[in-house]
Amino acid sequence: MSKPQGATLYEAAEKIYPREIGGRFDRLSRIATITLLGLFYAVPWLPWDERQAVLFDLPARKFYIFALTLWPQDFPYLALLLMILAYCLFFFTAIGGRLWCGFACPQTVWTEIFIWMEQFTEGTRSQRMKLDKAPWGWNKFRRKFSKQFLWVTFSLWTGFTFVGYFTPIRELGADIIAFNVGGWTLFWGLFYGFATYGNAGYMREQVCTYMCPYARFQSAMFDPDTLVITYDADRGEPRGSRSRRIDPGAAGLGHCVDCALCVHVCPTGIDIRDGLQYQCIGCAACVDVCDSVMDRMGYPRGLIRYSTEYALLHGLSSRDIVRRALRPRTLVYLSILLAIIAAFVVALVLRTPLKVDIIRDRASLARIVEDGRIENVYRFQIMNATERVARYTVRAEGLPGIALASNPIVAVPAAQSRMLAVRVQVPPDAAGPGSHVVSFEIVDTEQGHRVVEHTKFLMPR
Ligand code: SF4
Ligand code: SF4
Repeated sequence: MSKPQGATLYEAAEKIYPREIGGRFDRLSRIATITLLGLFYAVPWLPWDERQAVLFDLPARKFYIFALTLWPQDFPYLALLLMILAYCLFFFTAIGGRLWCGFACPQTVWTEIFIWMEQFTEGTRSQRMKLDKAPWGWNKFRRKFSKQFLWVTFSLWTGFTFVGYFTPIRELGADIIAFNVGGWTLFWGLFYGFATYGNAGYMREQVCTYMCPYARFQSAMFDPDTLVITYDADRGEPRGSRSRRIDPGAAGLGHCVDCALCVHVCPTGIDIRDGLQYQCIGCAACVDVCDSVMDRMGYPRGLIRYSTEYALLHGLSSRDIVRRALRPRTLVYLSILLAIIAAFVVALVLRTPLKVDIIRDRASLARIVEDGRIENVYRFQIMNATERVARYTVRAEGLPGIALASNPIVAVPAAQSRMLAVRVQVPPDAAGPGSHVVSFEIVDTEQGHRVVEHTKFLMPR
């Protein structure tokens, strides 16, 4: 099939120049950006005893989260945590729509920072548009170079911080200064930095529109009572420019003065007056700017506002909207969420900071030792998930006369695991030939944490 003259298979995205705004939602967005990014950059630097407070030590297969040390065996906690996050998303999306996208999503907060740097170096919306159209000269070069310098520095710092969650960040900093960074560390630092630079500097709204899976499936969580950014067409139409002195009612006009500011501030470049669109990330920039226009015109605020489909249809007040927030769907989400949180908390409180894996030593089958006793050897892996050196006593039971031939006291350093061979012996007449269930009890001598593991003892034929 021939391509029509002049048509392209891929339409290049048009660059969006969001206009600078002010207002209550803008303040909220700034607070969210500073808090969330502040936490991201600060947390890896927090110390906890002798180590980093939050560290995902993949080579050692240990996650440190403040006082908590998680091992691979603690995977159920991670699963519960992911379920909590998933239900939080269901619950808050059903109530607040795209609040996450508008105020807390990493793509949004990093883009916000990159736009601030762009405004700082290239100026306001109209100055930026003019600069892009202007031919290259000293002024353009200086401004573009300053922006790129800030973007690249910030991206590299972001990549460094990201890797600092997986490698002790202070040692990483020292290694970078000494030009002694490993290949993988360098790769992940640059990869994350480059992803930040590309997504927040250039891709921006295209990540939300074309790449984000959440943007696609969240409509399944929406219902007529979900909060969305809405344009009150009944009040706004017919739109048209007019003088402040004109009475819109007498002139046959609605309250929309058709200033297009709501389009100019929109980071995804849509016109919310066309109705709810999937590109809308719920950032409320259009609410702020339209409220400022309404103030100037002396009209009531809220021509564009957070509302729900149901509220618009039935003219509900804000109080009614809040009242309808808890409805069967959200109550089901909330109940499940609270149940999983309760299970998570109980599991954490009851968690034993001692893990033991026992396997029979396949290299040595049951053997007869001096004085005719029968010996089996086991490989123990004892994991001490506390922040102090722990001493454990090991005891075997399950067959008459069973006893340890190894030292029953085992010391394991803080947050470490120790492998050891444990020899166990029974009298020759303790049981018949074959395998017999025995158990090991491992007890923390100071704190009393106790683990019992069952295994098999082989008697020779
Ligand atoms: S900002 Fe408000 S008044 Fe201006 S065009 Fe948008 S909806 Fe109309
Ligand atoms: S329409 Fe309004 S709320 Fe939606 S993305 Fe644009 S500015 Fe943000």
